[in-house]
Amino acid sequence: MDDNLKLSNPKVTIEALQKYGFTFQKKFGQNFLIDAHVIKKIIAAAGITKEDTVVEIGPGMGTLTQYLAEAAGKVYAVEIDKALIPILADTLSEYDNVEIINDDILKVDINALAVPCDGTDDEAGGISSSKRKLKIVANLPYYITTPIIMGILEKKVNVSDMVIMVQKEVAQRMDASPGSKEYGALSLAVQYRAETYLAANVPPNSFIPRPNVGSAVIRLKVYDEPKVNVKDEKLMFKLIKASFGERRKTLQNGICNYPELSFTKDEVAAALRQMGLDERIRGEKLSLEEFAKLSDILGSN
Ligand code: SAM
Repeated sequence: MDDNLKLSNPKVTIEALQKYGFTFQKKFGQNFLIDAHVIKKIIAAAGITKEDTVVEIGPGMGTLTQYLAEAAGKVYAVEIDKALIPILADTLSEYDNVEIINDDILKVDINALAVPCDGTDDEAGGISSSKRKLKIVANLPYYITTPIIMGILEKKVNVSDMVIMVQKEVAQRMDASPGSKEYGALSLAVQYRAETYLAANVPPNSFIPRPNVGSAVIRLKVYDEPKVNVKDEKLMFKLIKASFGERRKTLQNGICNYPELSFTKDEVAAALRQMGLDERIRGEKLSLEEFAKLSDILGSN
């Protein structure tokens, strides 16, 4: 389809909104893209080819989907709002490689959408190691960004890349390094499982209606194995939560005051000394590798 006829052209989107009498639902975080330049950056960041099966979360009217359908082999578009389903059937009618699924992404078994590498369906329908990994591409509804991202990363879904539009501040937190003000539990939870790359900053006027916040596109390249080895993943993430719970406290106080942990000040101080760190250090200074080491030391006590 000619780019001028696509929904990325604001005129086409406005005409479509009028034609279908569509009203935006705030509760579903509906801010539709009207910027071809941004959409092309998303497609490029995801490196989509005809070999790829893409899952799009929240296609809206199908703006990004039209470009995905042209670049990818297969697109599954999961949309919660049933009012958008007949509109999508129309705006995507010329693409035979798009399947629209009317459901809540948090309830969809994403692994079931992956196809075996030879392109035929897995008889058992289960996760087979020979299944080609999926790419997830989305202009996410901002009200559930973190549950969607963490749900996919923590459940070890068969996904190689996620290229997602999120609130700028959330993208900065995911991408943050130790010592910065954005660095925290979300940075560590994401970076444990994926390499982050900030692909683009996107201003509010790239959407209709305009969001009240700036946006950014972030790429997460999902690791096959977590970035660091740690004996007890749950303990490490409790330590991380404890350390960032009260940012102005020292790591030692944060851990000792955290109700789900029972380490004494002396134990934490000894572990920090063993790692060559100052006892008064704050959590925001520790790298992922250091949190893993701290967890291993405290866990072996
Ligand atoms: N992709 C479209 C675009 O860029 O123009 C729309 C993006 S809009 C920010 C987010 C979309 O996600 C909306 O269409 C909304 O209805 C849908 N959505 C919200 N919550 C969802 C959920 N839990 N599961 C699936 N889709 C959802």
